[in-house]
Amino acid sequence: MHVYLFFSVKKKDFISREITIGRQKIGGLHPVLLQSMTNTSTCDVAATVEQIIRLSNVGCEMVRFSVPAMRDVRAVIEIKNLVRQKGIDMPLVADVHFQPAVAEALVGIVDKIRVNPGNYSTDNHEKNGKRTFNDSFETMKEKARSLLQLCDRDGTALRIGVNHGSLSHRIVERYGNGAEALCASAMEWVKICQDFNFQNVVFSMKASNVLVMIQATWLLAEQMRATGQCYPLHLGVTEAGSGLDGRVKSAAGIGALLLRGLGDTLRVSLTEKPENEILFAKKMLQAIETIDVEKYPLDTQGRLVYESEEQDREQWIAAAAALSGYYHSTIGIRDIWISNPFFSLKECKLLANAILQACRVKMSYTEIISCPTCARTIYDLENAVEKVKRRFINYPGLKIAVMGCVVNGPGEMADADYGIVGSSKNKVVVYKGKERISSNVSLEEALTILETLIH
Ligand code: SF4
Repeated sequence: MHVYLFFSVKKKDFISREITIGRQKIGGLHPVLLQSMTNTSTCDVAATVEQIIRLSNVGCEMVRFSVPAMRDVRAVIEIKNLVRQKGIDMPLVADVHFQPAVAEALVGIVDKIRVNPGNYSTDNHEKNGKRTFNDSFETMKEKARSLLQLCDRDGTALRIGVNHGSLSHRIVERYGNGAEALCASAMEWVKICQDFNFQNVVFSMKASNVLVMIQATWLLAEQMRATGQCYPLHLGVTEAGSGLDGRVKSAAGIGALLLRGLGDTLRVSLTEKPENEILFAKKMLQAIETIDVEKYPLDTQGRLVYESEEQDREQWIAAAAALSGYYHSTIGIRDIWISNPFFSLKECKLLANAILQACRVKMSYTEIISCPTCARTIYDLENAVEKVKRRFINYPGLKIAVMGCVVNGPGEMADADYGIVGSSKNKVVVYKGKERISSNVSLEEALTILETLIH
């Protein structure tokens, strides 16, 4: 059963602190900044620069790339130099997992560094036979000290990126595995930032489950407001997938929060080329500006009736999904009726089904969870997603994840029933829940194994 929230946070209540990321400012009354992420190997400097140029050409305002290891730091310096020579001055952001030393090495090189609290946490300490939550917090804080001090010294911003699939054991042990746990993890870092007097920070609360993402972000906004420390919010639904479903999931989660006036920067995550993320994000922002939420009260059956004459397909999708996410996360919807004279009845029904599926009101087909790919991706994930869709789409209620790498994939596929995760060049691992069923098999072998498991 979902817990619906009735938070009172509105834009006028939650004016975030203005922070500086390279030449950009976010927070306060600044417009929402659009960002994306490269999916080339960061070591492949030419390909990464090329992709950043393409992103810049479609209106991307901040770009992130994975920096998996120390050897990639040199490539980041080259990327930065080449991008700046081309006259592109958008902030460059490094995404670092599990490697505090790599994060520290990037300070002063990139404009912002994203770290995951789950990577800094240890299990709860044993002390006199008891597990102590606070001692573990102090250990984590000490581990973060050097990064925060270096960032403060060099004017590098940080994103504390909390992810539903990679919460630490100690947080899950105490708070469970829902929105409250994501919020608790973030609030620990609000405290760490305050203790070290570090202010150039933005927070994100990502989940593949749209409702969890919305609730966690609202909770965080409430709690930050209560402490008087309203840091900017980065919005995103992670592992949203591709095509209509990826767009609907992203717009339902991000749009619901934007309609509440929350969010200072956003990333739409799609298992497609990164430029598509920016193109859809722009449509979503345009859609949000046109929506008057008061115009759509639910009918007595709890049904949202969305009649529109929007002719732009992506803007229409974004508006319908954002509105549904907004209503579903506040009072709950039971159904949705969509009509638009510029689209066929079949298209309207497809969109309605995708929205009900994204909000987990009615599952009409298999939920495909797939990561947006990044420098860690080691096989053709887009192709894998298409093949999984073709073979396994007709299992309502089933969730299959298709993830790029074994570093983050198994953790971040969260509540999937089955998963295919890249393990080495063109090889994947097959999971049933958290159990590893086969290692290093080809995609075709993995699909056959999945078929046997599902039937
Ligand atoms: S799961 Fe996908 S997006 Fe996440 S780190 Fe691995 S390859 Fe990158």
